[in-house]
Formats: sequence, structure tokens, C-alpha cells
Amino acid sequence: MIKYTNTRRFFPLLAAALGFCFPTKFVFAQQTPCLFDSLYPAHRLETAEAGIRTGFQKRILQAADNHASDDSIRIIPVVVHVIHNGGTENISTAQIESQIRILNEDYGKLTGTPGDGDGVDTRVRFCLTKIDPQGRCTDGIVRLKTPLTAHKPVDRATLKQLSFWDNTRYLNVYVVKSITGGVGGYSSFPYAPPDEDGIVVRANLFGNVGTAASSGGRTMTHEVGHWFGLYHTFNGGCGQDTCADGDYVCDTPPVANPNYTCSLNANSCANDSPNLPDQVRNYMDYSPDDCKNKFTQGQKERIVATLDTVRTLIWSPANLASTGCDSAYQAPAICPVAVDFVTLTPTVCTGNQVYFMDRSLNAATAWQWSFPGGTPANSTLQNPTVKYDTVGVYPVTLIAWNANGSDTLTLNNYIEVTEPGVGAPLPFARNFDDGQYPPEGISIINPDGGIAWELDSAAARSVPYSMRINNLINTNYGTRDEIELPFLDLTTAHPDSMVRMTFWWAYARSDANYSDELIVQLSKDCGFNYTQILTKSGSTLVTGPTQTTPFIPDASQWKKATINLNAYRTEHYVKIRLVNVTDGGNNLYIDDLYVGDGGTVTATDELQSGMRSVRFFPNPARDYVQFLIPPGLNTPVHIRAYDTPGKLLRDYGEYASNSSPILNLAGLPPGFLFFTLQFVGLSYTTRVAKLP
Ligand SMILES: [Zn+2]
Repeated sequence: MIKYTNTRRFFPLLAAALGFCFPTKFVFAQQTPCLFDSLYPAHRLETAEAGIRTGFQKRILQAADNHASDDSIRIIPVVVHVIHNGGTENISTAQIESQIRILNEDYGKLTGTPGDGDGVDTRVRFCLTKIDPQGRCTDGIVRLKTPLTAHKPVDRATLKQLSFWDNTRYLNVYVVKSITGGVGGYSSFPYAPPDEDGIVVRANLFGNVGTAASSGGRTMTHEVGHWFGLYHTFNGGCGQDTCADGDYVCDTPPVANPNYTCSLNANSCANDSPNLPDQVRNYMDYSPDDCKNKFTQGQKERIVATLDTVRTLIWSPANLASTGCDSAYQAPAICPVAVDFVTLTPTVCTGNQVYFMDRSLNAATAWQWSFPGGTPANSTLQNPTVKYDTVGVYPVTLIAWNANGSDTLTLNNYIEVTEPGVGAPLPFARNFDDGQYPPEGISIINPDGGIAWELDSAAARSVPYSMRINNLINTNYGTRDEIELPFLDLTTAHPDSMVRMTFWWAYARSDANYSDELIVQLSKDCGFNYTQILTKSGSTLVTGPTQTTPFIPDASQWKKATINLNAYRTEHYVKIRLVNVTDGGNNLYIDDLYVGDGGTVTATDELQSGMRSVRFFPNPARDYVQFLIPPGLNTPVHIRAYDTPGKLLRDYGEYASNSSPILNLAGLPPGFLFFTLQFVGLSYTTRVAKLP
């Protein structure tokens, strides 16, 4: 497992990307409060920066035309999606409401609250939305049960598949149990793609009651700052120009490194005039929650510029009316239940299971599902799992109740069940040398839309092309990028031959302390579940010397990987993918990829693959044990029982491939029995417990 979010890992890389260095006193031991810097390297922010500047220009022109600068209150409707797995991360409504109150205190510098520092009132306020996108009454909270509450930032698009409201009208906030690497939260930046738009915060940092500390709630204040286009006060370190560098705000003094304590005398940069201390009380530093209490006038102007350019609809009077966030809204005494549900796997193969998640609004207390085509066909569970065995397209209906009534939703054609297909015959071979991209039959999977596998002619084992991924400039740590092969029919291998996957690779690190990762995975259930069949990282992946310049291998720096696929040779529909998990290392190359026959099957090969797939039951056993000998073995299997390896108790004789002998245990002593399965002079021993 790669740890990719500690500060030691990503700050030096970010510093290198921005062209300056952090002093060595940089605190390495801290957890990462916020993922902003690793998600948004400088090149991803150019569009946003241009947009926000347009906003500034507009306001300056308005002022010049003697148009009064609009300083009215701007209200942001918020929806909170609580992604929980039934634990304390399923925080109370009171805790969620406390967070909205804290946002208003902090952004409004409300008198008598912890947000009443020496900053400014940004004139922005927040409202837990009262009306959902379909016009239904709501408390603004969606609750949904899934193990994905243990959140990996790589999976952030999945949060949006679970639950997402129109981001031009609502600020989508996700509360989760944990974020990889101890991260507190992260936000999208203005102009990020819609499927990235929103904020993710850890449940126990959300609000200041319930599971959160009484001084808590400022992680959200900070992340909303990013959502409005604010940088960290320490962005760009000391920089050169205190206005045009760093956080692009003139009245926040430059800061060399994040402040993790509330040391009011800290002054890490001396290039500002007058030379002011670090603004450790600023919400956009990393100082403790009970230290932070201010936004500056310059930050307010950036927030307004963002609201005037990219986020214009959300605070408009029309949207406030349609979200119940305007003062005229008359809330009903109670909101009736509003039914809704979702699954992440609406398309499956026969025999697969589908997990349905209730996401009804307003606290449903009872559920009646119907699943035509599924097993079970009905359920009263809140979040049932249903198996589909027959090809077809099926509707799903949920009726949800609470004390105030019921609501019904039918999604027609929601579940599609397909037959596992028949894959392409072997061999499958690609040397990438025809220059086709993506290579024929191969899918390039690039979930974050950033750095991806691409063709490369700077180095190849077979010229002119290889596949390469540039981890050196990939700062989206933990991101998966995949080379996905077409479905293959492994039964088309020659019966006397091994089935093998081979490829050549080359890799170097950029720092001896960390490494990217290469994983090969195989699925035999239509691509729903994968088994890892190869993992290379660190010394097992390296083929060239560590270097901070782009690695370009010479002919001696290529290595060959061979994976034995004999255990899967009866599968008609196998999906294989090569996955790069980036850790900001260096170039990884793949060339001359092959899946097919790989020489004559030796007895050892057969033993390895065949014996691995022998099953037996029951265990423990009393009267008999049955062995399931898989098809495809070329030789009978001789089975003998021993009381310890070495002392023969009974010789059961030979059994053919694809048979299921039932072996009588009567008369054998209780305790452990050792069954030796022997063929071609080689043997494999397994242990069965015999009951008295
Ligand atoms: Zn941040």
C-alpha cells in the first residue's frame, strides 16, 4: 500500500513544480489537513485564475462607471450527503446544522462568535437547502450506507455516483468516516469539471457538537474557501511579489510553510514591506481550529470575483427561491418522506449481485422493495443485495414510509443483466508499433482525466513505440491508470500448452524513498471483481537508476514479466488490466504484451495450476470427504491418505480429470488426515480434519 498523502511526500514535489524550495525545517510529522495542493498542481489552476481575474476586471469597470459595487448578502444553498456505514460517522442533524451555523459565523464575522476576529464579513452566508432538485421538501441531508465511507480521493467521482445534486444550484458536501492518509478534507476549485465539484470532509471534523470537538468546524470553513477560489496563505511560499505570487491576495502576508500551531509571532518570510508576521489566524492556513478566525478584504474580493464569474446561478434570487433559501420561504411543519435509491452496478452479468442503497429524504423508517428478475424478488431491508441469474432488463420499485406517509419510486429498465460473452481467441499480442492509439482492442482508462498511458517513441523494446506513463509530473498521488485488454477466451489455448501472459517493462524511481506501483489484475466475472496476479513496486519494479530527470531506458534496462494463467484456462471470458498507481516517481514503460500459448505444459506447471484448483468438502469431515478434480488435467490423480506425511493409511487409487470422487473415511483415526494427490511423479498434500 502506498502512502501518498503525507506532507513529506507531496510538498517537495509541489515545490519543485513551482520552482522554489522549502527550508529543511519543514515539519514532516504532521498529518495532512487538506489535499488541495496534491489535487491542484499549478497547471490545473490556470483556467480558474484567468476566470477569477475576469471577475476582478468586471468589478473594477463597474466601479469606474459609478455603478455601486454590489455588497449585498449572497446565500449559498448547501446539500450534505452523509456517506456512512452505520457507525458514528452517520452524524446527527444537529451536528450538521452546527456546521452550517459555524460557516455563517466565520464568513459573516458574526459578533460574539469565534468567527469574530480582526478580518472582514465576506457577505456570504450558507443555507441548508429546504427544497431538493425535484421540488420536494427536505432537511437538506441525504444519508446513504456504503463501505465507501472509508474514502480514497481516487474514488471521488464515485461519491458523485452515489449522490449528487446540480452543482450550479447546490454546494455538494460529502461527510465521510475517513480519508486516506489522515486527510481532514478537500475541495474542488472553481472551473473544476462538474464531476469533481464539491467538498469532502471527515465526519468528526464536521461541526462542533456530537462526534466533533467543541472548537471544531473550521476544516469546512477552510475547504469552502478553496471552493470559492482561495489558495492556502502559504501557497507559493515567500514568492517574489506579495500580490502577484503566493495566494494572489495582497493583504495576506507571504508564508513559507503551513503553520500547524497558533504561534502569533511566526514570521517565515521577510520579503513583504512592511515585514508582517504570518497570518496564522487566517482560515486558509493549517493552524488549529481554535486559532483561526479571519478572512481578509483581499480574500473577500476573490470570493466575490468567483461568485460573479463561475458560480453565478447558485446565489441568484431565482435559485434561492427554488431551494427555499430566501426569506420568503414558508417551510411546512413536516416534510413527507421523499423516496430515492441508487446502485453503483446497474449493469451486471448473470449470477452477479447488486447492492441497492436507500437514499430517501426525510428519515424513512420502513421499506418495501420489489425486484422483478432478482433473488430475492422482494425485500423490506433498507439496503438489500439482490442476485440476478437471468438475462434481461428489469425495473426496481421502492416504497418508503415514515410516520407522515409513504412515497413510491419505480425505475424502469434500471438493471441490465447480460450473458457473459465469449472473449477473443488467443493469442492476444500488441507491440504498439503500428502507432495506433489507443492500441487496437485496448482501452486506456484514465479516471482523473490527467496523466495517462500514452504511446512513446523515446524508448521501446521493439521500435518504434512502447506504452509509457509519466509519473514524474503526475501529482495526483494514488491515481490508477489502466491498460485494459479486451475480453479473452483462455479455453482457446492449445491443450498441451501453458497459457501465459508476458510483457516487457522498464522503470526508474525519482526518489529512493518512494515508488510507483504496477499491478496486473484479472477478472473472470465480467469485470466486476478482480484478482491481483502480479504486483511490482520499489525494488521489484526498478530496472534503472533513481533519477529526478525523465527516465529513458536503454536496451539493457528492459525486463520481462511472465505470469502463468493455467489456473484460468477453462474461462471463456477473462478481462486483464495493467494498472499504474502513481506515487510521483518516474516513467514506467510497457512493451511487447502477449497473452497465449507459452511452450509445452510441464508436470510442474500442471501441478501448480491444476492442484491449486482442486476443492474438497466437508472439512472437518466425519464419514467421507469429496474431492472435486477440475477439468483440463491431462493425467489421472492418485489419492492416498496418511496419518502424518509418510505413514500410509489408505490408498484410494486413481481418479480422472473432471471427476468428483467420494472417499470413505470409515475406519480411519480421528484427527488430521493428510491427503496426497499425486500425478506425473509430483505430489501435493492437503490436510483434512476427521471428526471422531
Ligand atoms: Zn486547504
